[in-house]
Amino acid sequence: MTRRTHIVGGGIAGLSAALTVTADGGEAVVYEAAPQPGGRCRTLQPADGFIHDNGTHVLFTANGRTLDLLRTIGARDRWIEPEPNGLPLYDGRTREMHHVGLSPWSWLFPSRRPRGLTLPDLARILRLVFAAKDSPVASIIGARPIMDSLIEPLTVAVLNTPATQASSQRLAYALRQLVRPGGGHLLVAKNGLSEDLIEPAVATLAARGASVLPGQRLRMLLTSHERVIGLALADRTVMLGPGDRVILALPPYEVERLLPGLPVPTSFEPILNVHYRIPGSANPRFIGFTGMLAQWALIRPTHVSVTVSAADAVVDHSAADVATRIWREIAPALRDLGLEASGDCQPESRVVKEKRATIRQAAEILPQPPLLPLANLALAGDWLGSLPATIESAVMAGEHAASLLRHAGCLRPSTPRARPLKTEDAA
Ligand SMILES: Cc1cc2nc3c(=O)[nH]c(=O)nc-3n(C[C@H](O)[C@H](O)[C@H](O)COP(=O)(O)OP(=O)(O)OC[C@H]3O[C@@H](n4cnc5c(N)ncnc54)[C@H](O)[C@@H]3O)c2cc1C
Repeated sequence: MTRRTHIVGGGIAGLSAALTVTADGGEAVVYEAAPQPGGRCRTLQPADGFIHDNGTHVLFTANGRTLDLLRTIGARDRWIEPEPNGLPLYDGRTREMHHVGLSPWSWLFPSRRPRGLTLPDLARILRLVFAAKDSPVASIIGARPIMDSLIEPLTVAVLNTPATQASSQRLAYALRQLVRPGGGHLLVAKNGLSEDLIEPAVATLAARGASVLPGQRLRMLLTSHERVIGLALADRTVMLGPGDRVILALPPYEVERLLPGLPVPTSFEPILNVHYRIPGSANPRFIGFTGMLAQWALIRPTHVSVTVSAADAVVDHSAADVATRIWREIAPALRDLGLEASGDCQPESRVVKEKRATIRQAAEILPQPPLLPLANLALAGDWLGSLPATIESAVMAGEHAASLLRHAGCLRPSTPRARPLKTEDAA
C-alpha cells in the first residue's frame, strides 16, 4: 500500500510539510499552481534582467523553526545580519538618522534606545506583553512618542496591520520571542529569496526523492466517506491510494473554495514594494524610516527595495506616482548611507503590489477551520492559529500538518475548535 503525502501549494508551508514528511523517509509530492514555487516568498526574474524579490522578507534569530529549516536545507549561512550595530532609523521630518536595537535588552544602551522611550512606556509595553485580553495595540500604548518611533513600525512589520487595529496578543508573542537572549537579530537573504531559501528547499526535497511540480493547480478535491480519494488538477486527475494523505498548504480563500463551509479569515492587508535599480552597497544594508510613507529599505548591490506594509492607503494609487513619491522621500537617507541618490533623478523602478499579502491580524478572534477537516487531509498555511502570519508560522503549520497526519491513522475528522489554535508551544 502506498503511503504518499500529496501536498497542494508550494509556498513555505507546503515546502516545510514536504521536508517534514521526507525527513524520516516518507514519500511526498508537491503540486504548485504557479510556474515557480515559493508563493508569497519568491524572486521575480523578468526577461530584462532586473531580478528582485517580490518583497523584502526579514527573519529574526528568534524564528527558531525557520532557522532549523534553513539548517536542514543547508542555507543557514545565506541569511545574514545586515546591521549588527543596530538598525539605522531615518526620520523624514527631522532628516536625522539614529540607531535602534530590536532586542529590548539593547535599550539599556542609550545609543540603541528608541526615541522618546520612558519608564512609563516600558510599563505599557509590559502590560501589552502580559495582558490576558486581546486589544488593539494602540489602545494599550496610547498616543506617545514611542508609538511613532517603535510600536507602529514594529506592529506593521510583524503583523502587517495598523496599530489602531492590530492584535496585542499576536504582537506580544513576537515581543516575547525578541526578548529571548540572542533572539533580536534581524536577518535577510544574502542574495534573494529563491536563491537562499526556495531553491535549496526544492533541491533538498529532490535529493530525498520528492518532487515539486509547478503549473499544477488543484481545481477540485474528489472525496468519498470523509476522505480524499483524488485530486482534480489543471489537466489531469491523480487518484489516491488507500494509505495516501493530502495537505492543503493554501491561502484561506483557496481552502474555502475547495472545502466550502469551512470557517476561514476573510480580511487581508496589502504590502507594496518598490524596487529601484541603482548600484547599492556590496553587502546588504537595511534602513528603517519614520514619518514617511516608506517603512524600510533593503539595499542590495544592484537595487534598493522599499517596503510599505499595511498599505491600504496607497495600494490603489498609480505605481508611477507611488514610486516617485517614495524616491523623493528616501533619496536623502540613501545619501546619508553613502549612496549616490538624488531626489530629482529617479532611477528605473518596479512596483509589486501584493493585495492579499497576509490576513488582517486585528484584535479579534479570527474564524479558524479544523486542522484535520477530513480523515486523510490536513491544512497548513501561515494564517492558521494565533501567531503572527509570517514565514515562521508557515514553517510551523507545515510541520504540524505533517505530524497530525502521521498520527491521524484512521482517526475521524476533527471537530472545529471553539478558539483559535494556540500554536505557541504546538507543532
Ligand atoms: C511582500 C511581502 C512581504 C513579507 N514580508 C515578510 C517578512 O518580512 N517576514 C516574514 O516572516 N513574512 C513575511 N511575509 C509573509 C510570508 O511571505 C508568508 O507568511 C509566507 O510566505 C506564507 O507561506 P504559505 O506557504 O503559508 O502561503 P503562500 O506563500 O501563499 O503559499 C501558497 C501556495 O499555494 C499556491 N496555490 C494557490 N492555490 C493553489 C491551487 N489551487 N493549487 C495548487 N497551488 C495553489 C500558491 O501559488 C502559493 O505558491 C511577507 C509577505 C509578503 C507578500
